[in-house]
Amino acid sequence: MTKPGLRPNRRPLKQAHYDLVILGSGSTAFAAALRAQALGKTSVMTEERTTGGTCVNRGCLPSKNLIEAAKIIHAGNSHRTRKNIQQLGV
Ligand SMILES: Cc1cc2nc3c(=O)[nH]c(=O)nc-3n(C[C@H](O)[C@H](O)[C@H](O)COP(=O)(O)OP(=O)(O)OC[C@H]3O[C@@H](n4cnc5c(N)ncnc54)[C@H](O)[C@@H]3O)c2cc1C
Repeated sequence: MTKPGLRPNRRPLKQAHYDLVILGSGSTAFAAALRAQALGKTSVMTEERTTGGTCVNRGCLPSKNLIEAAKIIHAGNSHRTRKNIQQLGV
């Protein structure tokens, strides 16, 4: 049975040989691929969700954006900010 989001008619890749098959495409996978390359080996990455893994898609980067947005909203709602705005006559 095909997983939701996967195209059922996707053509299979041509058969190829790799020294290393990496499951996942997060930061650990990239470190492994770079290490393999440094050792003169070939590697291929597989990914069952989104390329880039947790940090890029769901973790580090999106969370920092949300934290910054929350800081801006919090600062805008603070008593001091409201008082400054009132003093400006806005
Ligand atoms: C909310 C949040 C905020 C974070 N903030 C930071 C931060 O500020 N700084 C920091 O250093 N770290 C942060 N992290 C931690 C960081 O995201 C992880 O340390 C990092 O992503 C781990 O990388 P990884 O490659 O080991 O795993 P992942 O990035 O999780 O990659 C694993 C990948 O493997 C795939 N996969 C799993 N099984 C298979 C399979 N059988 N076949 C194919 N693919 C498979 C998964 O779909 C996934 O994409 C945060 C994490 C979260 C959740």
